[in-house]
Amino acid sequence: MQSEHETKTYSNFIGGKWTESSGGIIESHNPANGVPVSRSARSKPEDVAHAVEEARKAFDSGDWSSKRPADRARVLREISDTLRRETEALSVLLTLETGKPLADSRGELLNAANVLEYYASAARHIVGRIPRYGASDVSLVVHEPVGVCGLIVPWNSPISLLSWKLGPALAAGCTVVIKPAVYTSGVTMEFVKLISAIEGLPPGVLNAVTGPGEPVGSALVKNRDVDKISFTGSTETGRKIMEMASTNLKKVNLECGGKSADIIFDDANLEAALPSAMWSIFRSAGQSCNAGSRLLVQRTIYDKFMQGFKEATAKIRIGNGLESSTEMGPVVSETQLNRVLGYIKSGQDEGARLTAGGKRLVHGDYSKGFFVQPTVFEGVERNMHIFQEEIFGPVLCVLPFEEEEDAVSIANDTEFGLAGDVWSHSLTRIMRVSQGIRTGTLWVNRHLNPGPEVPFGGYKQSGLGRETGMEGLMEFLQTKHISLQLTDSFERVRR
Ligand code: NAD
Repeated sequence: MQSEHETKTYSNFIGGKWTESSGGIIESHNPANGVPVSRSARSKPEDVAHAVEEARKAFDSGDWSSKRPADRARVLREISDTLRRETEALSVLLTLETGKPLADSRGELLNAANVLEYYASAARHIVGRIPRYGASDVSLVVHEPVGVCGLIVPWNSPISLLSWKLGPALAAGCTVVIKPAVYTSGVTMEFVKLISAIEGLPPGVLNAVTGPGEPVGSALVKNRDVDKISFTGSTETGRKIMEMASTNLKKVNLECGGKSADIIFDDANLEAALPSAMWSIFRSAGQSCNAGSRLLVQRTIYDKFMQGFKEATAKIRIGNGLESSTEMGPVVSETQLNRVLGYIKSGQDEGARLTAGGKRLVHGDYSKGFFVQPTVFEGVERNMHIFQEEIFGPVLCVLPFEEEEDAVSIANDTEFGLAGDVWSHSLTRIMRVSQGIRTGTLWVNRHLNPGPEVPFGGYKQSGLGRETGMEGLMEFLQTKHISLQLTDSFERVRR
């Protein structure tokens, strides 16, 4: 399988040229077996400065921001088409770098193509308004691109999350410097390579620089020529980004961590709720910002529901993402593995009951990778670390609840506020619960957004601002008010 994979080396893409860095190379490895996947530049702060300089020049030239919306839309559509055309090859690389099942990688790429296509249309809907105060006193409220944007992306869904930033940034007329996560630099740079040759994208509009958060990401955030940072990653890094961005009060968009609750009422369609709850935590081995990592089940159905849940969990097929039978792959790295195992130990030490999984798989081929069993904790108390902190691995905390108010109170008992799921048939209850829960998104009798038209983002410490939808586009625009007093002399000039 992987023996046929060619380990490619990628340099940085700056000002329309592939540019070597003197900082050396970082290798990414397949988390399923440790085999090298790709090599990319370990950039230095001066590489970042160079990329920002080119992005600045490209923005200030107006070659991109002053293009007609239809022309920017055409480029975005072509990026989307390229992604669709290249889905098969890119999905293999995505699976090799993240470990996720191939079907999930394909899904991610098609999702990204859909997002980019949406922003191709959105580019043609950037319109202002003209309040009128009198015959010769009018105002123009116009939206202008923010400028040079740093796009900092994590590894868990690297192309999909990049599309949430790249689509609206290019639609708005901004220029960008992309900084992917180290683990997924190969698939990101391959994507950049595929789209870099698209006609109509002037040099310097799209730049990409690889390397670790420190010093590469931070150099981008601190650079005073960057007007905006759009970041997705942990809340801890998000806090640092906010601080560093204060150098020139640059705008920041933060899509951070989550600890979402999946609430199952006893009147719900349990046949649909059970697999949804299971995959909302175990998909991508729990490495999703919106993972339903806290399952709240009404006491009246708790025992029966949990019996079915654990039986289904035991059947999840764990393996190398390239194998068609695999439903759950490894976690992304040894660091992540140790973090997850550390939380499992902490749950046990704090007295939660481990009722499924809990171990690293070490037999046979598993020994070469970072595989953790789907893990379920019951008897969890609200003050436990496993209940309060984002684990970002296949570890679920389950709590029973009595009444609606308890469910809302447990769901809100966290510093995060990204998303959540509610399962019930009662419309009045759904309305009460969904208004009581403090999260940016709430899915009712479903999991995940139906399309890129709707916004996504966090309440509380899950973030700042929104991505996707027209809200995501507005984050890359700033608003100018031009107040016109039409004087007589002006009128005469016009006549
Ligand atoms: P991370 O915060 O470690 O890294 C994210 C990105 O930031 C990477 O590109 C990294 O290199 C860069 N970075 C790290 N330190 C930096 C610094 N000091 N300055 C500038 N850049 C820096 O997160 P991760 O481990 O890659 O991703 C997992 C996290 O992402 C989880 O917390 C998850 O919930 C979150 N996430 C959120 C969303 C969302 O939409 N809210 C989506 C996916 C992932």
